[in-house]
Amino acid sequence: MTESYDAIVIGGGPAGSTVATALARAGRRALVLEKEKFPRFHVGESLLPFSLPIFERLGVAEKIRAAGYQKKFGAFFWNDVTGSGTRPVIFADALDDRHPMAYQVKRAEFDALLLSHSAASGAHVREETSVEDVLFEGRRAVGVRARGKDGREEEIRARVVVDASGQGAFLSKRLGTRRFDSKLKRAALFAHYEGIRWPADARPGDILLPVAEGVWYWVIPFSDGSMSVGAVYDPALAKESGAPSLEERFEWLLARSPRMLDFLGGARRTSKVFAISDYSATSGKMRGDGYVLVGDAATFLDPVFSTGVFLALATGERAAAAVDDALSRHGRLDARDLAAYEKEAKKLFARFRRFVYGFYDPVFFEGFCTPDPPEKMRKAVTTVLAGGVENPPFVQTFWTQLMLLVVGFDRVTQRLRRRPGGAPA
Ligand code: FAD
Repeated sequence: MTESYDAIVIGGGPAGSTVATALARAGRRALVLEKEKFPRFHVGESLLPFSLPIFERLGVAEKIRAAGYQKKFGAFFWNDVTGSGTRPVIFADALDDRHPMAYQVKRAEFDALLLSHSAASGAHVREETSVEDVLFEGRRAVGVRARGKDGREEEIRARVVVDASGQGAFLSKRLGTRRFDSKLKRAALFAHYEGIRWPADARPGDILLPVAEGVWYWVIPFSDGSMSVGAVYDPALAKESGAPSLEERFEWLLARSPRMLDFLGGARRTSKVFAISDYSATSGKMRGDGYVLVGDAATFLDPVFSTGVFLALATGERAAAAVDDALSRHGRLDARDLAAYEKEAKKLFARFRRFVYGFYDPVFFEGFCTPDPPEKMRKAVTTVLAGGVENPPFVQTFWTQLMLLVVGFDRVTQRLRRRPGGAPA
């Protein structure tokens, strides 16, 4: 058994580095154990504007500005399923327009910047060190067993264990509380490209999101001129493609969209094709005596609205505050110290989840892409899509609820119209 810390953080992604930085800035001894050597490739390159105030509070905003990442002012959706409609989302037009801009980042560099900021803030960071087990005394987490790059195992004690292990969801898998969201069963293939033709009707820097039958695509531009391209699809399509390799399946999916083919005409793929599936999942329990879950390890929603990194930062920051407060008050972390954290985190996830479910509902998506939604409704939805989900004002809640109600009403009337005579059977 080696030295003891206030907190051990499993994973050095955005959630883990946020917790470590916030705790270190509060004067806590925090240790991050990260199994990879940074920089390392990671999906999740389009950030939301409401991440920026969190970067300010973590003291990393100036470093991010200096890194010169691609600025992003919005998103552009094409409804190519029915061929009708587009939806430009312009963050400056949000009801809450304090944060009109975000960044598009290569996660290898970005995550390394955040993690080195944790170290500069006073956290201890060990890369190439994998957590093999969380140690419990009774129901209380008291540390971890970790394996370093030399293969040596050691037990390290801490008053708190923070699970920021991302999709690996280390602790909730061990405790058997991880649940997949069957409504969001999707798979994704993605790669980096050079030489993509930028469409005339989209603004430079925006994320582009063409939506076709059974598959939607992302094009994320970076400041060096290269771009990330992804296809998120119904896994049933994998069989239909008959493609023996990931590369061929990716080509097949891209070829389903004449728009994507147009963007990619003359482009060159510069990375291998990456794959991930069944990623939308939640951990029923986000807290316990001596432990807390943050970021993807707590919950991951489908990526259509680029919410993952924002939620990693937001939950990371809140969890760190709750941990610091509990340690100050009684020198340990009990499950009940995290009740407010868990409630708030679940609310944040739920506010986005309604829109994610809506996106896969043809009636909702058709409504989303109508040319002239009421102005207040459009602005309220834009605020949510910018990440403005923490303490939303009444007017925002009212308009987003109204939109969901209108969609629900539309769905019912469409169903009735489809019945013979247009009347209920
Ligand atoms: P991660 O970033 O995954 O970090 C977890 C870290 O923990 C990793 O570095 C891992 O190596 C480490 N780790 C895991 N297990 C151990 C262990 N046992 N010991 C030590 N270290 C460990 N989000 C966006 O904001 N914008 C997007 O455009 C976007 N697109 C996406 C597209 C797809 C297809 C998918 C699947 C996700 C996308 N996301 C996007 C989501 C985003 O990738 C995640 O939400 C985000 O990375 C979560 O951060 P995290 O810190 O919780 O986890």
